[in-house]
Amino acid sequence: MNFSIHILGSSSAVPTRDRNQTALVLDLGVRSVLFDAGEGVQKQMILHNIKPHKITHVVISHLHPDHFIGLIGLLCSWGLLGRHQKLCIVAPKGLQQIIELQLETSGIVLRYPLQFVLPGQNDNDLVLETSGFSLRSYKMKHRIECYGYLLTERKHERRLLPEMLEGVNLPYEAYPVLKSGMDYTHSDGKVYRYLHFTDDPPKSRSFAYFTDTTVQPHLSTYLHGVDLLYHDSTFMSEMDAKAVETGHSTTTQAAEFAALARVEKLILGHFSSRYGFLKPLENEARKIFGESYLAIEGQIFEVQNT
Ligand SMILES: [Zn+2]
Ligand SMILES: [Zn+2]
Repeated sequence: MNFSIHILGSSSAVPTRDRNQTALVLDLGVRSVLFDAGEGVQKQMILHNIKPHKITHVVISHLHPDHFIGLIGLLCSWGLLGRHQKLCIVAPKGLQQIIELQLETSGIVLRYPLQFVLPGQNDNDLVLETSGFSLRSYKMKHRIECYGYLLTERKHERRLLPEMLEGVNLPYEAYPVLKSGMDYTHSDGKVYRYLHFTDDPPKSRSFAYFTDTTVQPHLSTYLHGVDLLYHDSTFMSEMDAKAVETGHSTTTQAAEFAALARVEKLILGHFSSRYGFLKPLENEARKIFGESYLAIEGQIFEVQNT
């Protein structure tokens, strides 16, 4: 099963010639999740071959326009394109009102249901549990109410060991029992041990999305071993005072946070429009955390199933 992040936009408030406002898609194979929907997100999805019908959830960090203003366009287009399956939107209080007002004022009735879900009030609260993943939320430190999220794949089944199954006449109903991590007892009383016939399941892959925040070191404990962390890196370290003032982080702070959380890979994003050339931001982060990468439009970060 796929698990890959597709970057659609990485600029802070103001778009530039090469960079769009924040949006990225996590492709989970049968379904996708869109994180934030800045201006231009529709066009970016077309440009980077994102399949809209696969998007089952939209997760919004906060209600600064550069993070949600593209959503109404998407919703209307999906209506015109004949979408019928439900869309779940996780967002802070207020978005439901905004969207409903926009639709009502335009006289648009969507033919598919929208479900609005609020983030949790405590750090690490479980917001959603679906058949494919769970989603937890964290309070960010920004100028308005803002949330970070951690999406984790659901627990996989244990792997059957074909070499151990050879020549063993196991009944069909034994397989799901062994794969779920339980011993199977046959009607003749014989017990088949799951540890003998199966191996540990593949690791549940995870993605953390922490944007528009002053660095929050105390939250690193929740992100140990996360495969991909997208973190606010609006400024270079020389602008740390500005970062605090505006509720953002520097590349150095993002890298220190990634190291503290012991994540596998850091994606730097939400770049200030003052930086035309981004390589120095990556270089600065890599001095502290080697696995730091820039969120460039069109870039794909894939996590293998191991
Ligand atoms: Zn922003
Ligand atoms: Zn913001």
